[in-house]
Amino acid sequence: MSTHHELRGRVALITQDYPPVNGIGAAFRTHLLAALEQAIADENVVAIVVTGKPSVFSAGADVKEFNTPAATREPRLATLIAAFEDAPKPVIAAISGTCMGGGLELALGAHYRVARADAMIGLPEVKLGLLPGAGGTQRLPRAIGLERALAMIVSGAPAPAAQFRGTRLFDAITEGEAVVAALAFAEQVANKRPLPRLRDVVLDEPRAAAVLQAARSEAAAGPLPAPLQCAEAVGWCLDTPFDEALRREREAFVGLMATPASRALRHAFAAERAAARIEGLPEGTPLRDIRRVAVLGAGTMGSGIATAFLNAGFPVTLLETSPEALERGCAAIRRNYDGSLKKGKLTAHEVERRLAELAPTLSYASLADADLVIEAVFEDMAVKEQVFRRLDAVCKPGAILASNTSYLDIDRIAGFTQRPKDVLGLHFFSPAHVMRLLEVVRGAMTGDDVLATCVALARKLKKVGVVARVCDGFIGNRMLFRYTAAAFELVRVGASPQQVDAALQQFGMAMGPLRMGDLAGLDISWAVRKRRAAEAGRPAQPVMPDKLCEAGRFGQKTGAGWYRYEAGGRDPLPDPATDAMIAEFRRAQGVVPRAVGDEEVVERCIFALVNEGARILEEGVATRASDIDVVYLNGYGFPSHRGGPMLHADTVGLRHVVMMLERFAAEPGADPSWRPAPLLVRLVEQNRGFYPA
Ligand code: NAD
Repeated sequence: MSTHHELRGRVALITQDYPPVNGIGAAFRTHLLAALEQAIADENVVAIVVTGKPSVFSAGADVKEFNTPAATREPRLATLIAAFEDAPKPVIAAISGTCMGGGLELALGAHYRVARADAMIGLPEVKLGLLPGAGGTQRLPRAIGLERALAMIVSGAPAPAAQFRGTRLFDAITEGEAVVAALAFAEQVANKRPLPRLRDVVLDEPRAAAVLQAARSEAAAGPLPAPLQCAEAVGWCLDTPFDEALRREREAFVGLMATPASRALRHAFAAERAAARIEGLPEGTPLRDIRRVAVLGAGTMGSGIATAFLNAGFPVTLLETSPEALERGCAAIRRNYDGSLKKGKLTAHEVERRLAELAPTLSYASLADADLVIEAVFEDMAVKEQVFRRLDAVCKPGAILASNTSYLDIDRIAGFTQRPKDVLGLHFFSPAHVMRLLEVVRGAMTGDDVLATCVALARKLKKVGVVARVCDGFIGNRMLFRYTAAAFELVRVGASPQQVDAALQQFGMAMGPLRMGDLAGLDISWAVRKRRAAEAGRPAQPVMPDKLCEAGRFGQKTGAGWYRYEAGGRDPLPDPATDAMIAEFRRAQGVVPRAVGDEEVVERCIFALVNEGARILEEGVATRASDIDVVYLNGYGFPSHRGGPMLHADTVGLRHVVMMLERFAAEPGADPSWRPAPLLVRLVEQNRGFYPA
């Protein structure tokens, strides 16, 4: 951690180095201000260049300081920016790498900015439910125009510096080193006066009012307060004196910081980082070298998993049982790239380069050089057994053997090999090249280095890895089972499938549970229910989707499930045939349908998730409550502004959750799983939540 101050001829060069991302914490601010004052006082200095590291100018506020006294300790970021603006000598920001949030706001306070063309520029505060709180909403529009700034601030999306050529944002853009270009630039402007300040720019954009109005309406339609606040604040550029606008911006920032949505989004951000730390693993556990990957099974999951690895630059061997299945899988992989090609995200050349790393095979002998093998064959223990015995025979020592199973016992699978230390679950989500979640399932024998390697690998795949222990369904699917069971029960007692889905989508779920079942295939969970009944040695209680499956309605793939689908269509259409089957099912069960409120739909389904989550936490299947939230936010479409089921439970109050669970559990014939988890009861007794308030 350091602020380095040196003289390059007549120019002072101040270099900030605060790992990992030059977060603007108290030390960063204090030392930068001192260095600036020293340079101003030094008679030999005619200009001042402020820079960061080649990879990062600054990624913005130090998130560790959020809500601590250090965050507001002087010098605050606003003080630092004022010192830049008021400096009697030119201050030049030399920018390369990441320049985001407070980092960009700081640079906007400099008199001049010089950037490398590929530096990434953005104000992502909205993604944490906030707005830029140190002048960003006022200075960025003056630098690049209101319309562009509005789009950047409301979306939080970054863009490369090269896209801002010809704007006031950058006085020079270089393909070389930013510092070298900035030092040369400093010599040129050393004696130029007056010193330009963005605050002095008067915006004159005829379309501004209309653009603003459109942005306001769009933001107001969403569920979150921050985008609208961002749009309002940018609007102050047009009619509010600069310092008054800064004061209001600050006020709005403090207000947003206190909203549940911002708390949830910041929680999600911190939770992802926490998930990467594996409990009980010594710091510096050695990682295995993963160069070549093999995927077994080229179906829905195998083709997606292979695509994910190709995208991350790994050569992939893909094994199937027949030339036809192999060709189908390869075609699916090629199709995965069609979208990126059409949208211009990848060039045809780049797609070819990636596909060239794919080695389709029918022979186990081709797996001998793989460092990691991921099995994605049928969800059947007998097939898994056959596959893992063969892998054990052909794979090289030290290769990691992973299963993508959704539910099956990883310890049993590991037992099919002579190397259970090398075996674990890598549970990808469909479509595997798109979904960010990866459950890393730690078997009883899984080696520490195997686990650490796979969690690190998740990051290389641009995914978020969450460690789970072995149980039926791990974290996500085990909870999903209760959630969907609650949805089935609601239909049984009187709700329509449309009502259940609409109420949960209104709550913010990306897709209602019954639509999701139709998409995933109702036959899959049907098979799970049958397997569990067989394992338990007694028939399961019939549920409504059994009836759908018995009638051949497996969801989208058969053109009908809970809903009906037009040929090739994905829109769920209400189906009188489903309604008739539901009515018949209720009759057979002796149920007189009753009216169900939307609130009841949400509480039953979401509290079922929370209750099972609490059990999972108590059993140690998940290490932390926040890991469960990460799973639901990234794998199951839980609304990010609610922060995941466990934070949501805290937000509504665990006392209320337990009270409702007790009420559901007390109903005649209620499933015993409604009884509140002991951990929930204990937390309520201790007046605590899953998280500190
Ligand atoms: P799938 O039926 O689409 O594909 C399975 C593929 O495996 C088929 O192409 C089949 O030919 C091939 N196969 C079968 N036996 C094989 C063998 N011995 N060697 C090589 N290939 C073999 O199934 P899927 O949906 O891709 O599921 C695969 C696995 O992933 C299952 O364990 C499943 O539980 C799990 N999973 C599925 C999803 C999902 O949403 N579909 C999500 C997560 C995990």
